[in-house]
Amino acid sequence: MECKKAEKYIMKYMDNELSEEEAKVLNSHIMVCDFCKNDFYIYDNILNELNILENFEAPIDFENSVISKIEKLIEREYNKYHFVNNTITSVILLSFSIFFSIITLLILFRGNIITYFLNNSYISEQGQIIKQLTNNTFFVVNSTILNSIGILFGLLAIICVLQFIFLKRKKHTK
Ligand SMILES: [Zn+2]
Repeated sequence: MECKKAEKYIMKYMDNELSEEEAKVLNSHIMVCDFCKNDFYIYDNILNELNILENFEAPIDFENSVISKIEKLIEREYNKYHFVNNTITSVILLSFSIFFSIITLLILFRGNIITYFLNNSYISEQGQIIKQLTNNTFFVVNSTILNSIGILFGLLAIICVLQFIFLKRKKHTK
């Protein structure tokens, strides 16, 4: 079921017009869709609060003020939900792009890095170890394949950055 339909069913539930069959369908969607589940809980809370309020005498214009309160509440929850989701995705995308970039640089410039270590007398011992390690790696993995892997990681980094930019753009246009 689509979220739009689920939303309609939630409205019907609010009006106490949801059939048993529809309730089952809605329930199975809520089980798999966090967004609609969130919506449903918000509405259900409102419904409960309205039921409590119904026991009191409603002042004039009460209905309108309730509706505007509900609208504000829904908007706030909606924004909160999307903000959190976008932030988490951004952080993940950025960390991945940094991670992939570092691996790319390490693989593609391994020769320069090793030379740097060997020329630096303070850390030449580490340089020897790294050279030994990379030589062993070359023994297992062909240099061409290793370069391809480097380029692949570079592409992954670029994809992550593009996704990040796309996400930022989408957020701004909303
Ligand atoms: Zn949904």
